Amino acid sequence: MIEFRNVSLKYGSREILKNISLTFEDNTIQMILGPSGVGKSTIIKLMLGLIKPTKGEIFVDGVEISSFTETQLFPIRQKMGIVFQGNALFDSMTVSENMGFFLRENLKLPEAEIERRIKEQIKFAGLEGYEHVLPENLSGGMKKRVAIGRALIFHPKFILLDEPTAGLDPISAKKILDVIKRLKVEIGLGAVMITHIITDVFGVADKIAVLYGGEIIYNGEPEKMQDVSHSFITSFLSNAEV
Ligand code: ADP
Ligand code: MG
Repeated sequence: MIEFRNVSLKYGSREILKNISLTFEDNTIQMILGPSGVGKSTIIKLMLGLIKPTKGEIFVDGVEISSFTETQLFPIRQKMGIVFQGNALFDSMTVSENMGFFLRENLKLPEAEIERRIKEQIKFAGLEGYEHVLPENLSGGMKKRVAIGRALIFHPKFILLDEPTAGLDPISAKKILDVIKRLKVEIGLGAVMITHIITDVFGVADKIAVLYGGEIIYNGEPEKMQDVSHSFITSFLSNAEV
């Protein structure tokens, strides 16, 4: 479980997050919705300890991490696989090399175990036959699936996805959402997924937190969002561009 307790974050004098409290349960797909620039990616950076809160506490499985050093953060970060918005794949490496890179760099596993894990992720992501292909020769949806495979290779408890369907055509986006659901059902992972796309939410999210003006204005089941009268939520539900 990841828990934010009364977390505030300032960049300079600008307060981005104001006293946020949020719980991310195991084996749950929690989405975070909010307009551009509101602080969604900042929440993921806080979870990973890449930035420190100005105020408040962040617990990962009961351990408060906000004063942790890089060395202390290493085992914490292994619990969380991250899929960046732009994938952050290495252009000069093949699919297999991308997937294995951080594992080879960071864990002293036998090569046979690394190869086994790469194979496992290639299979899960439906990328058999593409092991030796460079990212430039893959579609947007396939690149995203490589990034998901790379995030899973440490066998995390959670996967953090920053706008994983942005820029994808509807069919590729649906495939990615299906992969996220399979992560929960087949592997038992929890997911923290950022989005601003309405079709991502229904039938996928267990819970949705809406971030607006630095505050959580809604946190609950997607189906009950319509009971909230807030202009951002209303325009989101009417499928307007948010
Ligand atoms: P979102 O992901 O919701 O679009 P971000 O979390 O990336 O938003 O950023 C929230 C706000 O903080 C934005 O206005 C952004 O410009 C600002 N911001 C992000 N990173 C920094 C930084 N390192 N220094 C100063 N301002 C930043
Ligand atoms: Mg962002």
